[in-house]
Amino acid sequence: MSTELLLVGGERVPAAEERTFSVIEPGNGSPMADVAEAGPEDARRAVDVAVEAFDEGSWPRTSATERGRVLLRASVLVRERLEELAQLEARNVGKPISDARDEIGIVADTLEYWGGAANKIFGETVPVQDPGLDVTLREPVGVCALITPWNFPLVIATWKLSPALACGNTIVVKPASLTPLSLLRLADILAEAGLPAGTLSVLPGPGSSVGNALVTDPRVAKVGFTGSTEIGSAIMALAARNITRISLELGGKSANVVFADADMDTCVERSMWAVFANTGQDCCARSRILVERPAYDGFVQALAERTDGLRVGQPLSEETDLGPLISSGQRQTAVDYLEIGQKEGARLVTGGDVPEVPDGANGFYLRPAILADVDNAWRVAQEEIFGPVACVIPFDTEEEAIRLANETEYGLSGSIWTRDLGRAIRVAKGIRTGVLSVNSSHSVHTEAPFGGYKRSGIGREMGMHAVNLYTEVKNIYFSEA
Ligand code: NDP
Repeated sequence: MSTELLLVGGERVPAAEERTFSVIEPGNGSPMADVAEAGPEDARRAVDVAVEAFDEGSWPRTSATERGRVLLRASVLVRERLEELAQLEARNVGKPISDARDEIGIVADTLEYWGGAANKIFGETVPVQDPGLDVTLREPVGVCALITPWNFPLVIATWKLSPALACGNTIVVKPASLTPLSLLRLADILAEAGLPAGTLSVLPGPGSSVGNALVTDPRVAKVGFTGSTEIGSAIMALAARNITRISLELGGKSANVVFADADMDTCVERSMWAVFANTGQDCCARSRILVERPAYDGFVQALAERTDGLRVGQPLSEETDLGPLISSGQRQTAVDYLEIGQKEGARLVTGGDVPEVPDGANGFYLRPAILADVDNAWRVAQEEIFGPVACVIPFDTEEEAIRLANETEYGLSGSIWTRDLGRAIRVAKGIRTGVLSVNSSHSVHTEAPFGGYKRSGIGREMGMHAVNLYTEVKNIYFSEA
């Protein structure tokens, strides 16, 4: 097995300490690649390169239109290589190939969006009292360290690096150790599309060493992080030392609020995918399903029947609905929470066992599970499980639904199901969360802002809101005299 090397200064290089690590394929538990393991010295080197590229290199000085063209060319190349990238992502994360294809499509869409947006990022003229002219400039913030998770590796990395590049920054990305492969391919594609060497470095390696070194380097102007609330909080404290700008996209325990007047067939189907897609490893998972009492029993039964029909299988099989979890540890966490939930008093309606999957005896499979009659105060309803576990909770009134939806430390996502428009508006206004969908479970869009309230994060990625994360605003006053 050849070793995937780090990308620094436009070249593939071994790690300074010459360490490597194995990347495991969750579908069968076998190694799929050896990867150079970056450490603090590699982080320093990559930041040296990014600083030089920012201070003297061509990218920040390239016209916004040309920067956009590079991103547009990369988008075309990603679409041309969609199948190859999708297979790599499916194998490395364990997600069904059909989902992986959709995600690589989103990667291409995101590059295309920012390719088009690059020359539409501009400042303002400000009507100050003094005679003269006051203008603001949107300038790149500098060297950006982007730290990304394993659940949607390429999509989330692209959500960060595309606006960062469009705005003229230089970048070092640290992908999750479990899933570094697709980003290295995308970096090759960006180079082929014309991104100058040194503008983007990629450093697979442990968060605790290389990630930590990036966050604490005073030359890094901006940290963009997606991952757990616990690590996000730790990184924020580290970034505070140097007043490093930071945006955080963290955990969630989002509510899916089902009123009895909803279109139940669609609602059951979408509610199921809203928690089990990506085998539940999704910060937006609507893992608390709140159901109005008159519809409660019927909903639980229909959800269980539909869930039992999901095919858990090998990621590359076209028949697969749900793949394995990312690791045995992640599966054990889900199994532990099922036990915790039942001890708290929940009723296990279905799932939670390990299915037999052809050639998957050593994979990390788990059947999706439904816990019913859950109390919102219990641990299973309050803590992010990040696995295929749905908690169903009854409610009686609209006010109670809003209160329960808000009784969580998180505030990332959520859905509301009702045919009553007035109620949809009231509940949507009442829920404290960054993204919501009504009669849909689709609330994340390339063109629209995405991010969390409360402990789900700080800042808004995606759409033109992301410009705020990757630019500084400079105000200049020109005197008439
Ligand atoms: P982490 O928050 O630990 O990891 C996210 C990223 O941060 C990874 O690239 C990781 O590197 C890096 N990292 C870890 N420690 C540091 C550090 N001290 N300094 C800088 N970077 C660091 O998430 P996990 O992957 O361990 O998953 C744990 C839990 O987090 C999940 O069970 C889930 O609950 C939640 N999670 C939430 C996500 C979301 O989208 N909101 C995404 C992923 C996880 P490395 O991979 O090397 O550890």
